[in-house]
Amino acid sequence: MRNCLKNWRDNTVKIRVLGDPVLRKKSQPVTDFAQVRAILEEFKMSMYSEDGVGLAAPQVGISLRFFAMDDGSGFKMVVNPQIIENSEEKELGEEGCLSVPGVFADVWRHKWIRVRYQDEHGVYHEELLQGYAARIFQHEYDHLDGVLFIDHLDTKTRTSLAQQLKKIMEERKKESAK
Ligand SMILES: [Zn+2]
Repeated sequence: MRNCLKNWRDNTVKIRVLGDPVLRKKSQPVTDFAQVRAILEEFKMSMYSEDGVGLAAPQVGISLRFFAMDDGSGFKMVVNPQIIENSEEKELGEEGCLSVPGVFADVWRHKWIRVRYQDEHGVYHEELLQGYAARIFQHEYDHLDGVLFIDHLDTKTRTSLAQQLKKIMEERKKESAK
């Protein structure tokens, strides 16, 4: 496990991009919170240095259920999240993703969600999130199940982005072949 952790740390700043299989894997629950604490600072740095408002573990190659977010109210580490209730009403808003660079599109999300999660110390929290915070949470939560925001787009929008997505995947291939 120690070696494993070392590999993660070495990879932290490298954001995984569309086409990387780790982004499509279902992540496993966190049982050892020391692992989350050990990576927290690098994780935080990676997110802010890329101007992200959220960063999920699979995006840095870690297949565990945790993510970081900051909706403007401060940095928060969200571990083993659950969405326990959600509004029927959805709203449309623009999203982008560090793993799908340069692509922005409108996505429908629940207007509000009630969530339960643990922090980096394993302490449970329950919150009602609305608007932007709810949107970020839903986007990051999806990452833990191998889902990307582009999966929510209608066929027409997806088709219009096809070339751009293809280019991202080709670039990634070139990068990983180096
Ligand atoms: Zn994302």
